[in-house]
Amino acid sequence: MDINTVDSFRRPTRPAELRLAEGETFLAGGSWLFSEPQPDVTGLVDLTALAWPAVESSAAGLRLAATCTLAELAALHDTGWTAEPLFRESCRALLGSFKVWNVATVGGNLCLALAAAPMAALTVALDASLEVWGPDGTVRTLDALDLIVGPGRTVLDHGDLLRAIDLPALALTGETASRKASLRPLGRSAAFVVGRRDADGRFTVVVTAATPHPYRFRFDGIPTAPELRATLDTIPEWYDDPHGSPDWRRAITLRLAEELRTELAEREGAR
Ligand SMILES: Cc1cc2nc3c(=O)[nH]c(=O)nc-3n(C[C@H](O)[C@H](O)[C@H](O)COP(=O)(O)OP(=O)(O)OC[C@H]3O[C@@H](n4cnc5c(N)ncnc54)[C@H](O)[C@@H]3O)c2cc1C
Repeated sequence: MDINTVDSFRRPTRPAELRLAEGETFLAGGSWLFSEPQPDVTGLVDLTALAWPAVESSAAGLRLAATCTLAELAALHDTGWTAEPLFRESCRALLGSFKVWNVATVGGNLCLALAAAPMAALTVALDASLEVWGPDGTVRTLDALDLIVGPGRTVLDHGDLLRAIDLPALALTGETASRKASLRPLGRSAAFVVGRRDADGRFTVVVTAATPHPYRFRFDGIPTAPELRATLDTIPEWYDDPHGSPDWRRAITLRLAEELRTELAEREGAR
């Protein structure tokens, strides 16, 4: 796609150069930006020039740069974190070719904020906090759950930059499992549900794609099937688009969540 409104392109190498001028927007992998007309965009500011390390590991957990690509995330192996398989499962929920995976970034996926953003499922399920740089040089952190408020809408203002995603050790040591449903075998996620059971028995379930924004529910232990169902039934809105009707999305989400509940309970019993 030629976006023929663009007449400037910057590759900042220092944070001070990240302030957007009128008409400028941040460019990460470009897998969405270059996929459709952008009539309001006259300049691109390429975040990849900052060369942030894709992944940084410490005893506190993992820090993903916003510019970490899906390919880099999916390639993580032997990190020692129990939740590691969820990285690949979440990447696989985005059904792009290797060409898309090689450029699409974790930050771009979160900031684009599609209902079917698999990085939202990953980060909300792992209690991520997001580091956001404001255009005035301020730095703030956000719970990943609070970023996306609706399809294509986040709490970020124009000029806010998502710098990094911090995944805490406690969540990374949890057992995780995920389920995805689509209307077609290679279709976009209509429901993507993640479960996590912590070492202390606490259970978390996160619903994405079936709802306009992510929902996260916590339980002190593995809930019973009726408890889980009753909790999910408090979700007030189910997403409606060509990838699935709200009623079907609700029904399939309840089924997938029940599968996760059973799987994580069985894994607990097997230990
Ligand atoms: C075949 C195909 C399948 C796809 N399937 C899915 C899917 O299932 N689910 C899904 O969610 N998406 C999907 N996409 C859309 C898109 O490719 C992904 O969301 C991708 O992760 C976007 O990342 P990017 O780095 O390419 O973002 P870009 O296209 O570079 O940017 C996306 C938006 O985010 C902003 N942005 C990027 N990084 C930052 C940052 N750090 N701080 C602030 N703003 C930022 C940009 O200004 C832009 O508005 C698909 C695309 C293709 C081509």
